[in-house]
Amino acid sequence: MRLTAHYRLSHFLTPLLLIPAGIAAGSLAELSEFFISLFNVLPTLLLLLGGALCMVYGRQRQLFMLAAVYIAYFLLDTQVDFFRAHGRTRPEAALVFHLCCVLLPLLYGVYGIWEERMHLLQDLLARSAALLAVVGVTTALARRFPQGLAELLSDTYWPSLHGQWMSLAQLSYLGFILASVALLAAYLRQPRPLHAAQLVGLLGLLWMLPKVFILPHALTVMTSLAMLNLAGAVAHEAYQMAFRDELTGLPGRRALNERFQRLGQQYVLAMIDVDHFKKFNDSHGHDVGDQVLRMVASHLRRTGGGGKAYRYGGEEFTLVFAGKSIEQCLPHLEAVRQSIESYSMHLRDRGNRPRDDRQGRSKRGGKDGQTVSVTISIGVAERDVERRSPEEVIKGADQALYAAKSGGRNRVAVYGQARRGAVRTA
Ligand code: GH3
Ligand code: MG
Ligand code: MG
Repeated sequence: MRLTAHYRLSHFLTPLLLIPAGIAAGSLAELSEFFISLFNVLPTLLLLLGGALCMVYGRQRQLFMLAAVYIAYFLLDTQVDFFRAHGRTRPEAALVFHLCCVLLPLLYGVYGIWEERMHLLQDLLARSAALLAVVGVTTALARRFPQGLAELLSDTYWPSLHGQWMSLAQLSYLGFILASVALLAAYLRQPRPLHAAQLVGLLGLLWMLPKVFILPHALTVMTSLAMLNLAGAVAHEAYQMAFRDELTGLPGRRALNERFQRLGQQYVLAMIDVDHFKKFNDSHGHDVGDQVLRMVASHLRRTGGGGKAYRYGGEEFTLVFAGKSIEQCLPHLEAVRQSIESYSMHLRDRGNRPRDDRQGRSKRGGKDGQTVSVTISIGVAERDVERRSPEEVIKGADQALYAAKSGGRNRVAVYGQARRGAVRTA
């Protein structure tokens, strides 16, 4: 069972802003001088900047997608410039156009799903070799059989499938269909911002290609935004890598430290720890342990009263209630403790049977197989004259957590009360 909300609208937010913006701006008959100059340099700038970002974060796929888009842009731009300057196309314009229309979606799609597996340098070499092979073979064919190749690429192979609205050759649509299916599958298998951006970016290119000779700015504007879309997604994931915990999807320790910088004068911090989790791992295996952490995180994420959940580390979490007093937070902490206690988790992998049924709080369910459940202990403290910094408050919450554990677990303990020995029990 999957507990984290995998498919998120937020993955699509930036691409769905950038690509339609590209369609809108690219459709304009006139652009101001400023924007014309900007969009003329942006593809090259984005190739360099985005390429550097891809190299730093080991995102070879996007590096080569940027390269494929840039090469198509470069080839088409040369043809479009000549057409604008002379009012006629170059002799090879049709061939170059059809080559770009067929190869761009294919290369974009192949690079988009070609996962980074090997050593960095080997990976780079393999991808470069593929690109060089495609460019080399097509250049050789284009030199030797320009007419034949142009016909091969632009022929209507399936007349019954041809529609009036089609402004590209059938092979190009085939390329776009294959690439979008592959990129959609990549997103469905691994929903992440980069995969969403790749998919939406492809649609932008599909919009752009039929218009490169018709709309004056379609090529430069959409190339810029499709490349920005890819580079932006690489940056988005880099941010997530630094601030989000991969297992649970919650913000991690670094994000918590950032939050500590701007907590103000009144706040409450709660430390949450899964009870007997080592035993649980021992009896059910680490994978089931991971599922439990995701489940706990998904409950903590829904904590009421403005509580924001972070993964502190291991099986420990932190809830931050800004501008709240302990009395305001306690009902919400109690509610989340109860919701986790009463939640029965169906195991996803039936191979993960407990090795020792006496260990852990597990029980066998009905037809659905095995279910497990866990409990959490919570220690909570608020900022006061005695504890002024978040680090001190968290220490207080930790002490309260310790009291909750020694008081029997599965309970909420308040720092001040815990100190006086009055642990607030469930
Ligand atoms: P207590 O009730 O006193 O908290 O007992 P405990 O066993 O939960 O305490 P302890 O802190 O000793 O155990 C924490 C365990 O959490 C140890 C480690 O195996 C497990 N753990 C930490 N991080 C992860 C993780 O990312 N995945 C899994 N599956 N287990 C983890
Ligand atoms: Mg612990
Ligand atoms: Mg624990």
